[in-house]
Amino acid sequence: MLEKVLIANRGEIALRILRACKELGIKTVAVHSSADRDLMHVRLADESVCIGPASASKSYLNVPAIIAATEVTDAVAIHPGYGFLSENADFADQVERSGFIFIGPRAETIRLMGDKVSAINAMKAAGVPTVPGSDGPLDDNAERTLAVAKRIGYPVIIKAAAGGGGRGMRVVHSEAALLNSIYVTQSEAKAAFGNGTVYLEKFLENPRHVEIQVLGDGLGNAIYLGDRDCSMQRRHQKVLEEAPAPDIPDDIRNQVAETCIKACKQMKYRGAGTLEFLYQDKQFYFIEMNTRVQVEHPVTEMVTGIDIVKEQLRIASGIPLSIRQEDIKIKGHAIECRINAEDPVSFMPCPGKINLFHAPGGNGIRVDSHIYSGYTVPPHYDSLIGKLISYGSTRDEALARMQNALDELLIDGIRTNTPLHKEILRDPNFRKGGTNIHYLEHMLAGAHGKNS
Ligand code: ADP
Repeated sequence: MLEKVLIANRGEIALRILRACKELGIKTVAVHSSADRDLMHVRLADESVCIGPASASKSYLNVPAIIAATEVTDAVAIHPGYGFLSENADFADQVERSGFIFIGPRAETIRLMGDKVSAINAMKAAGVPTVPGSDGPLDDNAERTLAVAKRIGYPVIIKAAAGGGGRGMRVVHSEAALLNSIYVTQSEAKAAFGNGTVYLEKFLENPRHVEIQVLGDGLGNAIYLGDRDCSMQRRHQKVLEEAPAPDIPDDIRNQVAETCIKACKQMKYRGAGTLEFLYQDKQFYFIEMNTRVQVEHPVTEMVTGIDIVKEQLRIASGIPLSIRQEDIKIKGHAIECRINAEDPVSFMPCPGKINLFHAPGGNGIRVDSHIYSGYTVPPHYDSLIGKLISYGSTRDEALARMQNALDELLIDGIRTNTPLHKEILRDPNFRKGGTNIHYLEHMLAGAHGKNS
């Protein structure tokens, strides 16, 4: 087992990783910006190093500072969490070249999956179903592009090959708007990701977002841990997730998961990963793979009993997967609400001091959060301040427990999106299960319409 791990992240995921390390007897190093001295995991880590000022580009994205901190503390491995450097192939390369272990896939896998065009092609080759599309990047031949879009059929969605975080996408409904929209998306992608490559996909009108969690040991063994439904989204960003995805026939979900595993075995995938799909009319369509731990991994942990972060640490230690596919049994149902420091109506970030925090509890409730009474949420980073997770033997039980937990949750001093979660939990269609990716925005438009 690894002896000492440096956690190159902050907030709830840094604390989550720290807890897993401590369970496995691994020593921990926290790195933090000057604005993050008061983070819970910094207090709890064996050692901590300040790696730069508040700005993420000078701290959590500061590769030389992170490598130097690993060196001076004698850590042997780096866990990147999610976001920041977690899917940066050059970083993974540099970590390994410096003689440390990157807790995640090999740099070449990150690179392959980081470009959505090459990811789609790789998955397609392994038999994973994909969205009808341009089958590659668009070039500057306008005639060819128009012909491709015509073949796919409108509406189409233009997507940046290097896109992420719900950015770099544009839906086009008619041929007249296509070329100009491509031009705008290319320029935006170039500015945002340093890569202007775009491709086309059929825009599915009412899909659900369903994703499959995988684990591979880098030695050719790979398993899947069931699926999650992340259709509750606002601006392509997930708000609430659940596992398993409701109302999908077992033969369909198992068949697609089998193709995912085949692909992972072929590439000797190493670490935790997620294959994201759109699901519509009983069909799965691959859209991208994330080569890291996801924010929503706890719902899978609750229904499988497997600790995904501990598995990441074991895999990085070079231990072959000991769990076999037939050992994975999905039991019960889990729901996660992402708690953000933001205004529940305008969605504007709402950093500031938390005067009082009371965490909910009881049977089947898990709280993954770094906040505490007296903690000040800094304005420099993502507004996620914690995750409420409920588990029940049935979906209804998980829903009821989540409603209780949301009622018990007390965060005084800043505004949070808790009222939004309460509204979702009351919504009759969500309660039925299986709402699509547009549902939340329609729900919000309706509610706001009523108020005005
Ligand atoms: P990102 O890497 O930015 O998260 P994704 O490719 O995962 O981008 O897409 C994010 C979200 O955008 C999806 O969950 C879905 O809501 C929407 N989306 C992406 N591709 C399509 C498509 N072909 N049709 C309809 N919606 C799509």
